[in-house]
Amino acid sequence: MANILVIEDDQRIRELVCEHLARDGHSASSEANGLDGLRSLTADEPDALVLDLGLPDLDGIDLLRMVRSVAELPVLVLTAREDEETILAAFAEGADDYVVKPISGPQLSARMAALLRRGSADAVDTITVGDLEILLGPRQVKFGDTMLELTAKEFDMLAYLAARHGTVVSKEDLHAAVWKAPAGTEGRTVDVHLSNLRKKLGETATSEVRYLHTVIGAGVRLQAPEA
Ligand code: CA
Repeated sequence: MANILVIEDDQRIRELVCEHLARDGHSASSEANGLDGLRSLTADEPDALVLDLGLPDLDGIDLLRMVRSVAELPVLVLTAREDEETILAAFAEGADDYVVKPISGPQLSARMAALLRRGSADAVDTITVGDLEILLGPRQVKFGDTMLELTAKEFDMLAYLAARHGTVVSKEDLHAAVWKAPAGTEGRTVDVHLSNLRKKLGETATSEVRYLHTVIGAGVRLQAPEA
């Protein structure tokens, strides 16, 4: 899930690309010319950019150079231009991927996923809580010497709690953050996932609690055991 900016002057392609990205769970916004695109880029700081080169106001390669002077985000060039000179110029100016139109929906998904994966793996972001090491880029959790096998939701929950370790997080907040669902719809979902996560940490709710503390009536707190 990423915020993606699409700079494309062809309305039909712009809408198709945005719709497709939204269907993949991304939040897509778009601009129809280069200057508006640059403005959005600096104002909204998106996670990735889909860039058309044939724009009404600016040459796409010049625009790419300007993009690179202000942002390090992954850039997928999506263009009708297929001459070698333009392709090489685009990579020289910092394109991460280059696709000649038309692009199929599945290929757009796959290329965007690869770009985002690479981008987040570069930014090695780790939260450490005691013996727990949560690697946000590759979405892995090391617990002492072992790698935990977590489901996507368990990972998201643990990462959310770890980012707030030492403080109590309500189950409503946890549910809203991880399931992106409105308050009041959480039911037993969070409890069930917490219980599974507990088991994977070698704990039960009633005994041997070391990391995942239930605070009755308030929520749950992730905390490193006293050394
Ligand atoms: Ca165009």
